[in-house]
Amino acid sequence: MNNKLHNINQIISEIATKLADSDQHLISSLQQEIDNLLLHGPEDNRGPSTPHPDKASGCYKFGDDPDHYCPHCFDKLQQKIATQRLNRQLRVCPQCRSSLRPLQ
Ligand SMILES: [Zn+2]
Repeated sequence: MNNKLHNINQIISEIATKLADSDQHLISSLQQEIDNLLLHGPEDNRGPSTPHPDKASGCYKFGDDPDHYCPHCFDKLQQKIATQRLNRQLRVCPQCRSSLRPLQ
């Protein structure tokens, strides 16, 4: 990540040297957007790729995604499998057939 960031910054400063003074503001807005992304992207542990155990269902949730995902499939196979609701207490994973209950 830091390595990529370094590359991006290098490219940006190269572009900056080729741009006219009147266009330099484009570079600073680009830089600002990237800073925003970095602040709110990977640093944010509620991001879409980080699982959050959901106590109410026993499943994993991701970011703002309303679906409930199987924690077994995600931990073992890095697969996001949406679980199906059987009843108020119970969900089942269509892939590994685990039943998922609320955590105590
Ligand atoms: Zn599963």
